Amino acid sequence: MKLVTFEKDGRSAVGLLNAAGTAVHPVPGCADMQALIGIWPALDTAAVLRGEGLPLERVRLLAPIPRPVQDVICLGINYFDHAKESEAVAGKGVKAPDTFPIYFSKRVNEAVAPGGDILSHSDLVADLDYEAELAVVIGRPAYNVSEADALDYVFGYTILNDVSARTIQNQHKQWYRGKSLDGFTPMGPWIVTPDEFDVRRPQKIQSRINGELRQDSTTDLMIFHVPYVIAELSQGMTLRPGTIISMGTPAGVGMGFDPPKWLHPGDVVACSIEGIGTLTNTVR
Ligand code: MG
Repeated sequence: MKLVTFEKDGRSAVGLLNAAGTAVHPVPGCADMQALIGIWPALDTAAVLRGEGLPLERVRLLAPIPRPVQDVICLGINYFDHAKESEAVAGKGVKAPDTFPIYFSKRVNEAVAPGGDILSHSDLVADLDYEAELAVVIGRPAYNVSEADALDYVFGYTILNDVSARTIQNQHKQWYRGKSLDGFTPMGPWIVTPDEFDVRRPQKIQSRINGELRQDSTTDLMIFHVPYVIAELSQGMTLRPGTIISMGTPAGVGMGFDPPKWLHPGDVVACSIEGIGTLTNTVR
């Protein structure tokens, strides 16, 4: 099932998308996605879908979780091909992690809606880049879970564009600042629940800039996979409902081209994952 956060007449709400993908059915009494995560196990989705639907084109979709309660947990260099291109660009400092994943975090004051603007910060950033990523949303408290049980803690999956300011990312020892500027986290267009998206199967992941295919990979080429990451992160640290984990990006980011292909105002960035959809944004 696909779950959306949307705005209608100036108010935001959450809803279920019907099977045809044409109408949004608001979930009564549910203020936001965090509340929907809480009531999800008990929700009679069939009853919600029998309720009145709003035509999808008549609502404005927002990021499924517009204001995450905590920073997004990100994986760095988590596809073999991206490790290779990063190593070629950055030299000896960047290697594919062979034993332990690279974790970093990304502040998201407000996630960018589908169709919304990526802020270029052109007074500050000369090398703006895109990273199409699969993002995992945790559904119930995960503490010391095993890899075998890890997927039971997943609420759903969405697409996240880990927009990056490369100079800022690399001039500080940690990537946090260069990943966390306002308008750097497009997310959506919706959350797909695990019954509809099998993360254990290879799914195509792509990005296009102004229609030009840049990233073109499959999720099975991740170095560390979702069950492993949830299990490891949950050792000694509770992953609370609503936690977002962004699983890293494949090769084909702007930094990897010679010369680099940075983003500029007016560019249209489309990130797609098979089984989820396409998240399209414009650089402003
Ligand atoms: Mg990334």
